[in-house]
Amino acid sequence: MTVDLDWDNLGFQYRHLPFRYISYFKNGKWNQGQLTEDANLHISESSPALHYGQQAFEGLKAYRTKDGSIQLFRPDQNAERLQATAERLLMPQVPTDMFIEAVKKVVRANEDYVPPYGTGASLYIRPLLIGIGDIIGVQPAQEYIFTIFVMPVGNYFKGGLLPTKFIVAEDFDRAAPYGTGAAKVGGNYAGSLLPGKQAKGNGFSDVIYLDPATHTKIEEVGAANFFGITADNQFITPLSPSILPSITKYSLLELAKDRLGMEVIEGDVPVDQLNKFTEAGACGTAAVISPIGAIQYKHEYHVFYSETEVGPVTKRLYEELVGIQFGDIEAPEGWIVKVD
Ligand SMILES: *Cc1c(COP(=O)(O)O)cnc(C)c1O
Repeated sequence: MTVDLDWDNLGFQYRHLPFRYISYFKNGKWNQGQLTEDANLHISESSPALHYGQQAFEGLKAYRTKDGSIQLFRPDQNAERLQATAERLLMPQVPTDMFIEAVKKVVRANEDYVPPYGTGASLYIRPLLIGIGDIIGVQPAQEYIFTIFVMPVGNYFKGGLLPTKFIVAEDFDRAAPYGTGAAKVGGNYAGSLLPGKQAKGNGFSDVIYLDPATHTKIEEVGAANFFGITADNQFITPLSPSILPSITKYSLLELAKDRLGMEVIEGDVPVDQLNKFTEAGACGTAAVISPIGAIQYKHEYHVFYSETEVGPVTKRLYEELVGIQFGDIEAPEGWIVKVD
């Protein structure tokens, strides 16, 4: 039985649900993971995750379909990205099978909290991998926790897709050229809090970061990837070793090519050539697509399609992807994994 929550006003906030999954890595291997009702982690005060940022996370969602079943969107991609992050931070790999089974287990256990079909809400899934144990020197942990908790989250855009404005960061970078920008690690976020706060204080949704080496090309948007649409039917998105590879972005890119017949390009996006874009957006699991109405860069304020209305191509892409995620539109091979 689905619990009774105000599905239309969930927002994006932590909720204490009945069950989470936890597995411990010791002596070179993962133990048999299990569900627990304990939402607190009991770890050594010297854990490398706390001092030196040896930690990684993921984010994906479970969706209730029209027939009442529950499905995941490309969880294998999240598993692979966590593996890539783990490799960069010298953490043990969580095998793809273990990752997907653990996700299914925790979703099933909290099944009553998967929002009903038609509300636009979904179950957000947060896997976390942290280095723990009694180590104070700068070295990788010997022991790790892999845990997954979930929470119902609302449809980001209740009244339809709404464009917002963003500001290009001039005095801050998100990541170094060959640093950990492509790894999904909390450390990248700690440094983004200050520029994010300044941007919000000035009325912008978030910051757009430029490439750290030359500060001439758009990299990504705080916690989402950037894409632009041109008048001649191109979908263009930045390519850089310090961008976090968004699964939403690569899914949109495939849909743009295969279903909208667009030309898709991963390449440089010079910040002084925004004129070529008729539409722009920020994409990620949480909001799917946030249409970018305008970008402030130095003293220039560049408006794309409109500051109040989403552009037609962005809307089309959004509807295609969300339709696939909720099971209303046929998915490309392998994109959907049923939970039951
Ligand atoms: C997670 C994340 C994204 C979005 O990735 P999705 O897989 O689409 O959710 C974009 N940028 C950063 C920095 C991220 O951490």
